[in-house]
Amino acid sequence: MKTIAILGSTGSIGTQTLEVVRANPDRLRVAALAAGRNITLLEAQIREFAPSLAAVWAEEDAEKLRERTADLKVKIVSGMEGLLEVARLPESEILVTAIVGMIGIRPTVAAIEAGKDIALANKETLVTAGHLIMPLAKEKNVKILPVDSEHSAIYQCLNGERGNKIARIWLTASGGPFRGKKREDLAGVHVEDALNHPNWKMGRKITIDSATLVNKGLEVMEASHLFGVPQEKVRVIVQPQSVIHSMVEYEDGAVIAQLGTPDMKLPIQYALLGPERLPLAGSRLDFAAIGSITFEEPDTETFAGLAMAREAFAAGGNMPTVFNAANEYAVALFLDGKIPFLAIYDIIAACMEKIGYIPAPSVEQILETEEAVRGYIAENWPR
Ligand code: NDP
Repeated sequence: MKTIAILGSTGSIGTQTLEVVRANPDRLRVAALAAGRNITLLEAQIREFAPSLAAVWAEEDAEKLRERTADLKVKIVSGMEGLLEVARLPESEILVTAIVGMIGIRPTVAAIEAGKDIALANKETLVTAGHLIMPLAKEKNVKILPVDSEHSAIYQCLNGERGNKIARIWLTASGGPFRGKKREDLAGVHVEDALNHPNWKMGRKITIDSATLVNKGLEVMEASHLFGVPQEKVRVIVQPQSVIHSMVEYEDGAVIAQLGTPDMKLPIQYALLGPERLPLAGSRLDFAAIGSITFEEPDTETFAGLAMAREAFAAGGNMPTVFNAANEYAVALFLDGKIPFLAIYDIIAACMEKIGYIPAPSVEQILETEEAVRGYIAENWPR
């Protein structure tokens, strides 16, 4: 029996993680849950999974939840202290980081310091603090288990290869809802158009990141940190059917791929219970029905997110943080209807030019950089 804690239990990855727990009651147990504002769903989750600890962001929500769960033996906490308590809870072995954004950094670091393995969905943490997190995980003998479908695919393709060197990673991309469109077509797109992903049903922020190709840029950085390969060896290839989740090319030219239907429960289950392949309900690939799997180069001129991410990663230091934080705030503005789609790129570019460079930032400096980005955007793109 493995005991887990989940940051972001009410979100897309969080709820699917709980589906995996529900299907494996003899193997997985939930010790702690953390959510943002959805206390109705969190209360239902507490009643079903009986964790000893639960966290919400606002103390007023925590107060309400304490009243609603007064009949249960669960401690309710709030704020960053609450997230840290969930991350460090002695009885849990694995922390699932299914929270969205850079708010995941401190709890992830705290969990590694406390010796917990990390099932990592929250890629923003690795993108901004990977230079601290990967060595810390090594020092503490902690596993960073990828949940992102592409990274899980790579992880699965590495299994059994006994340290054979990676020649290239082929990171597949669906191309998002606007594949094939040019810059002029994107000027007036609406939030609902951008949220309409062709293959995957995900949270709002990552869905917009897929439409801009920022998500693929974040994934290049994530892959480089996780698998210790330079970004030049991480190639992005558009595969619109989302059948191949990613591939590893070895030095003899052999390419190993992982294929499957677009279902996040597989990578979640593999992170929590792999390398054993346990039964998982759901649809299966029907190759004859798929007919063909096609490939194309990403259009990085129209969808500048990938090229900008590579530039930020090559610059290193706090530039990935600037890139990521600028994107987080720009996406929030776009989702609120305050800026047009293409302005997401303008905001990222402006921040990368204006925010001061720090070579090897500490966690504090990463968070200060985030604050500087927030301040710059608030001044220039007021809500
Ligand atoms: P969602 O928006 O669906 O869920 C986010 C979760 O984080 C919710 O449970 C939300 O709580 C919680 N949350 C937000 N703010 C806070 C806060 N201040 N304190 C505590 N909890 C908070 O996101 P996704 O599940 O889509 O994505 C989560 C992460 O996983 C992201 O980093 C994303 O890039 C990554 N990922 C997601 C994939 C997917 O298929 N969805 C695929 C690969 C990676 P509440 O709703 O209660 O406010």
